[in-house]
Amino acid sequence: MPTLRELLADGRIHVIDGAMGTMLYDKGIFLNACFDELVVKAPDIVSAVHIAYADAGAEIIETNTFGANPIKLMQYGLADDVETLNTAATRLARKAVGPHCAVVGAIGPLGVRLEPFGELGVDEAEAAFGRQVDGLLTGGVDGFCLETFSDVAELEAAIRAIRARSDLPVIAQMTVGPDGRTGYGTDPETFGPALEAAGADVIGVNCSIGPQIVLEAIEKLVRVVHLPVSAQPNAGLPRDVADRKIYMASPEYMAEYARRMVEAGARFVGGCCGTTPAHIKAIRAFVRSAQPRSRLGRSDLARPDGSPQLSGIAGPDGSPRPSGIAGPDGSPRPSGIAGPDGSPRPTSEARLGAPGPGT
Ligand SMILES: [Zn+2]
Repeated sequence: MPTLRELLADGRIHVIDGAMGTMLYDKGIFLNACFDELVVKAPDIVSAVHIAYADAGAEIIETNTFGANPIKLMQYGLADDVETLNTAATRLARKAVGPHCAVVGAIGPLGVRLEPFGELGVDEAEAAFGRQVDGLLTGGVDGFCLETFSDVAELEAAIRAIRARSDLPVIAQMTVGPDGRTGYGTDPETFGPALEAAGADVIGVNCSIGPQIVLEAIEKLVRVVHLPVSAQPNAGLPRDVADRKIYMASPEYMAEYARRMVEAGARFVGGCCGTTPAHIKAIRAFVRSAQPRSRLGRSDLARPDGSPQLSGIAGPDGSPRPSGIAGPDGSPRPSGIAGPDGSPRPTSEARLGAPGPGT
């Protein structure tokens, strides 16, 4: 079974799943329903979404727990059910995808502002996240995906809640607005190093108004962080069409942006609102084409049409971007991740992924 830790360690590019909420909405669940309760109220519907993403080629499946924290669940009278819902969601995802995918616990913002902008204390936020983390750990997640955060302090509180209980890997993703900054005005150059210092294992950007803004944020992030980077953009902004919310970005469009994200340095790509298994399937097809079994030089990264990709891999100054994970001593390895013997691998391999079992 590929755990998130194994996927992190192999240096290859990996695919995270797409939207859950959009899929549930498309299956007739009303927007005012508690989506997080569906893991016990309508488990077959949630399970079918997980299976569809696994079949589409997602290697990392997120639990249906984005809003399953005490503060959001309180609005539905479910504050006492935080642990049981998170545990049920994890077991449901694990059962749905079997041994084929990593299962990570999805954790979103609490939905209220933290001090000094709001009433909630940072310690209270950490305690609230802690209950969610307890439930996810009981269910057996093998990592966490913290996503769509706007407040760095809130995301740091969530990471602390995890680190107090577990050393499992953490994907930490902020979201940005049209100006490329979070709702609090924080730019990627600021939140990237902060999340690295907070103990995340992957740092990324998700949701937002579409892939172009996320790509620009990723390009900024990779210059300032030494950890692997992830990108899960929305399929554009929703438009109201005949009383329904429709996302306009096609699977091919999202896969093209996944290519650009990978060229910019992202190692984990997937989707957020509006993305479907069809989008993830197109993204996986690109990742497969870019990541053959044989060792390739960086000029061999194929475009979807098969022509060699010659640009976009190097850093802004033409030098290879320092990529990969930190060395054993915690220092960033300028030339990619360590090989099995501890020696640094060439950058191209760190980016494209070392040869391994087929994708
Ligand atoms: Zn989203």
